[in-house]
Amino acid sequence: MRENWKIETQAVQGNYAPKAAEPRTAPIHQSTTFKYDSAEHMAQLFDLDCADPMYTRLGNPTTSVFEEKIALMEGGVAALATSSGQAASAVSLLNITRAGQHVLSASTLYGGTYSLFANTLPKLGIEVGFIDPEASVEEMKAAFRPDTRCLFAETIGNPGLNILDFEKFSRVAKEMGVPLIIDNTLASPALCRPLEHGADIVIHSATKYIDGHGTAVGGVIVDSGKFDWSASGKYPELCEPDSSYHGLKYVEKFGPLAYIVKSRAQYMRDLGVTPAPQNSFLFNHGLTTLHLRMERHSSNALALAKFLEKHDKVSWVNYPGLESHPSYKLTQKYLPKGASGVLTFGIKGGREAGMKFMEACKLIAMVVHVGDARSCVLHPASTTHRQLSEAEQIASGVTPDLIRLSVGIEHIDDIMADVDQALAAS
Ligand SMILES: *Cc1c(COP(=O)(O)O)cnc(C)c1O
Repeated sequence: MRENWKIETQAVQGNYAPKAAEPRTAPIHQSTTFKYDSAEHMAQLFDLDCADPMYTRLGNPTTSVFEEKIALMEGGVAALATSSGQAASAVSLLNITRAGQHVLSASTLYGGTYSLFANTLPKLGIEVGFIDPEASVEEMKAAFRPDTRCLFAETIGNPGLNILDFEKFSRVAKEMGVPLIIDNTLASPALCRPLEHGADIVIHSATKYIDGHGTAVGGVIVDSGKFDWSASGKYPELCEPDSSYHGLKYVEKFGPLAYIVKSRAQYMRDLGVTPAPQNSFLFNHGLTTLHLRMERHSSNALALAKFLEKHDKVSWVNYPGLESHPSYKLTQKYLPKGASGVLTFGIKGGREAGMKFMEACKLIAMVVHVGDARSCVLHPASTTHRQLSEAEQIASGVTPDLIRLSVGIEHIDDIMADVDQALAAS
């Protein structure tokens, strides 16, 4: 059974099994709509009695292939692909919260997610509280409110690179009776499978390592199917009749698939944050080599981090695979196969030197991106965070000397040589 295959085999062969004379590669179904012959079949589609494709906003065969593969690789029961990682985080929360309710999140977040949580969700009446991921169980529990509906965190904080203490977070979520939603973008299922460590739902920006080649923006939500939505009475939208679907009850009708069916039937229907079939094809392609790329990203990043630690133009290095890193114990526990490809370091000479370093890189490209097979560099203080004052930058963890590298899968000697000459030029 494909559920029992190793993740490497799932990545290569996990989803699509063509019959005789069908294409070997899952094709791009570049079609908005799908044809039917009987009124009864159409009625079944609209009653959600049948999952055949009808209209690409709600589902597409190419996208289904991607959804099935990532669900398999994360060890979940079903997935919903979205047009971006931002759409995945928004829909994952909107599906179980409403105005007047509350979400608790680790404070160490990707910038776009922070902005969604701090600015946009509050405009819709959903408040998000932020907690230090180092907080104790008691402090975390004290930050819950009666109307808190989920706990959210990233496996590897982007860009802080702290590793999540899954045992603590899943324990708190369980004791408080809410699901734990994990953004697993920087680790990918090849390095960490959060559902095995007590998470209930996993989301991704597929734009990063899943694509892996810098070609498409997308996202995905994977559900474990294990959270008991009925037990607490806190999730009536999943357990009680949905008036927008003539009284359908998701948990009763779909059991473990309820969360994903509802997110598709309501939020994909109403918000339309659908991936293009062409992009689903690229994500499916990317997943095929994910395990190999993550191995190389991780070994290259570790070697580069060790090289930088000894370099006299470098004042500090932040990589969770280094023994000197505060998360090192958690890295060993949750990311034994590697700590992924992103690292940050401090360059001597501060802001000026940082800008010079970024410009002097030749092989390593100056781009606002991580997770590409090609190495990328960014000096956040003079780019992504330049609108903030220096005090605000430091509060958000961006010091003037900070350089972020997304280490690619080129030969490590060439990456090191480029970093070395750029440091000399800085
Ligand atoms: C990039 C990123 C996102 C947002 O994804 P997009 O595909 O750019 O919308 C969310 N979370 C993390 C950790 C990311 O790195």
